[in-house]
Amino acid sequence: MDFEYTPEQIQLRKAVREFAEAEIAPHVMEWDEGQIFPLETVRKLGSLGYMGAIFPEEYNGAGMGYIEYAIVIEELSRVDGSLGIIVAAHTSLCSNHIYKMGDEEQRRRYLPRLATGEWIGCWSLTEPEAGSDAAGTRTRAVNERGEWVLNGAKTFTTNAHHADVCVAMAVTDRSAAQHGISAFIVEKDTPGFRCGRKENKLGLRASSTGEVIFEDCRLAAGQLLGRMNEGFVDSLKVLDGGRISIAALSIGMAQGAYDAALRYSKLRKQFGRPISEFQAIQHKLVDMAVELDAARLLNYRAAWMLDHGARVTRESSMAKLFASEAAVRIAGEALQIHGGYGFIKDYPVEKFYRDVKLCTIGEGTSEIQRLVIARELLKT
Ligand SMILES: Cc1cc2nc3c(=O)[nH]c(=O)nc-3n(C[C@H](O)[C@H](O)[C@H](O)COP(=O)(O)OP(=O)(O)OC[C@H]3O[C@@H](n4cnc5c(N)ncnc54)[C@H](O)[C@@H]3O)c2cc1C
Repeated sequence: MDFEYTPEQIQLRKAVREFAEAEIAPHVMEWDEGQIFPLETVRKLGSLGYMGAIFPEEYNGAGMGYIEYAIVIEELSRVDGSLGIIVAAHTSLCSNHIYKMGDEEQRRRYLPRLATGEWIGCWSLTEPEAGSDAAGTRTRAVNERGEWVLNGAKTFTTNAHHADVCVAMAVTDRSAAQHGISAFIVEKDTPGFRCGRKENKLGLRASSTGEVIFEDCRLAAGQLLGRMNEGFVDSLKVLDGGRISIAALSIGMAQGAYDAALRYSKLRKQFGRPISEFQAIQHKLVDMAVELDAARLLNYRAAWMLDHGARVTRESSMAKLFASEAAVRIAGEALQIHGGYGFIKDYPVEKFYRDVKLCTIGEGTSEIQRLVIARELLKT
């Protein structure tokens, strides 16, 4: 066992932190209030290799592992969770589905553009009637003379309105339930494909979340991604990695909230002393620091296992469950330490408090993580 960061990981964290402080921090509230998608910043992240961290260099990726990828998501989210979720949905859902399940032609067409941020990706599984029960997908794909014709609608797709490529799941065999859903790659200009409503959200407001609609959307046979009827099963494998990025998103935002609270507690004086000298405040900071450390360790274990080719369903679910719930608690305590000022938009903690809640919901709610982990535990 080795608990040291490598010199490269230390350098990576420093580089992403410096980028986030210089290029993201000054705009965070403006983007949040205006619900402005930070396209220019996303392109810059692409040119630095952060939009394709986990893909091999032959596909223009940065050739990093999941621990490095988690560091990137953490450091972006420490400043703005919206950037964290934009990069996460693009990388570990859309691009990774293509990387893991795509044939060589698909990898060559899509990954180099996605990995450099020239194209933005989104991934559509959820539907209005199929959220936690994602196998209840209704969007259907019918094969007509060698072409696929898609009809239906997806909801809550991160990046939908800015994506050049969408990986979407649709029913191809109604009688086969989980083994009757396939994945498709849809390019944004495909006739019959469009985005619908963009959601007005509690948090992560600079990221866009919305509907994706298919109306007689015709796709060439080569747009089927992975094996026919195995798209749902493949999605679960993709989500194993995706949950590491939601844990990293949680950890990054929790770190941002903790850092702000620690700083504030040393500056704010009441009863003639900095509030950090009160034991009640110290205990909050201690509990926050312990939970943050535990969340990080759980997530790096899952990331390390994934990098070593292991199955991580249990470990990534545990990391996501713990990190997201801990992050909600940490952001709440960070706000409490700020007192009334925590409720005011001049301080960063109110935004962390709003943003972090998504982490207990997206890519499987906490209830569903417990269901997944229970299944894994009861197997043995
Ligand atoms: C900001 C945002 C971004 C998102 N991005 C994406 C994306 O990019 N792509 C995508 O495909 N989806 C995305 N989602 C969708 C997200 O994954 C779903 O919202 C989530 O899986 C829950 O589904 P639901 O909202 O339909 O809730 P429901 O499934 O209706 O759940 C409602 C409640 O019931 C509970 N529940 C449901 N079933 C059970 C059960 N069997 N046992 C116990 N409790 C249960 C849930 O835990 C929850 O508390 C996003 C959502 C949001 C809000």
